[in-house]
Amino acid sequence: VKKKAGQYEKQARPVKQAAVLGAGIMGGGIAYQSASRGTPILMKDIKEDAIELGLKESRKLFAKQVERGKLTTEQMAEKLTNIRPTLSYGDFGNVDLVVEAVVENPRVKDAVLTEVEGLVGEETILTSNTSTISITRLAANLSRPENFCGMHFFNPVHRMPLVEVIRGEKTGDAAVAATVAYARAMGKTPIVVNDCPGFLVNRVLFPYFGGFSQLVEQGADFQRVDKVMEKFGWPMGPAYLLDVVGMDTAVHAGEVMAEGFPERMASMGGGNGKSAIQLMVENERLGQKNDKGFYAYE
Ligand code: NAD
Repeated sequence: VKKKAGQYEKQARPVKQAAVLGAGIMGGGIAYQSASRGTPILMKDIKEDAIELGLKESRKLFAKQVERGKLTTEQMAEKLTNIRPTLSYGDFGNVDLVVEAVVENPRVKDAVLTEVEGLVGEETILTSNTSTISITRLAANLSRPENFCGMHFFNPVHRMPLVEVIRGEKTGDAAVAATVAYARAMGKTPIVVNDCPGFLVNRVLFPYFGGFSQLVEQGADFQRVDKVMEKFGWPMGPAYLLDVVGMDTAVHAGEVMAEGFPERMASMGGGNGKSAIQLMVENERLGQKNDKGFYAYE
């Protein structure tokens, strides 16, 4: 962590128009959050049905606010107009900040980021919601790497307050400032961190998952471990949290962490043998995404 997030905001250029690339779990959540806090956002995907799904989720979340009496139906309709779904880059010329939230594949991200960089204004800030790819690495193909940084939201976006703003080697202060200010405008708590495997949260979280996996391999009852961690004061235990994250995602992120910190990650399969979490993937128990992980879901 370099400077406190607040120190950047004084220099921030306000984000009046945002855009998100990808209308999936994260992109849809980011569009909802931006719209609900009043910043108009273009939501671009390559698939019509992904856009439909993203919009449906937003409608559902806004409808809940109406049910709870926090919004009127008129306010809901107005806020929904803040999300402009699109399959093209038509209106990207006026965008102040773009959040890339397409699939976690460096080749796809490189293609999308270089494409969008050629279409936006020179001062537009580009950010990526990647969980595991180095920001410095993603900046390598850009012609304005100073305008690029990480903007890492957590799932579900509307409930998780934290946003990691990640500085790559060439990221400039203006990019960090605008991203911090946009995160705050969305009602989030931004922290500015350096680029490293796992950034901050996953760097702390994954060795914990590794410790849990080792306990299970040694015969511990995962439900008891969850209960113990809840009594310890955590809102949920590691088995349930892994079901939420998705076992395949956890294994993938664990591999990235193991490359960066082999000594700390051996317990997640970075050493010899398979971890309990890898075995879960092999048995197609991916978590809530396919209704079975450590627990069963309906
Ligand atoms: P997802 O699969 O739900 O959504 C990805 C979307 O990107 C899909 O709708 C797909 O059609 C779209 N897409 C693919 N290529 C595109 C392109 N060229 N242009 C526009 N859209 C395109 O994935 P997700 O879970 O929302 O993850 C998105 C990103 O967020 C990944 O980088 C992931 O690592 C990161 N992330 C995910 C989580 C999580 O818990 N799911 C948490 C934090 C960060």
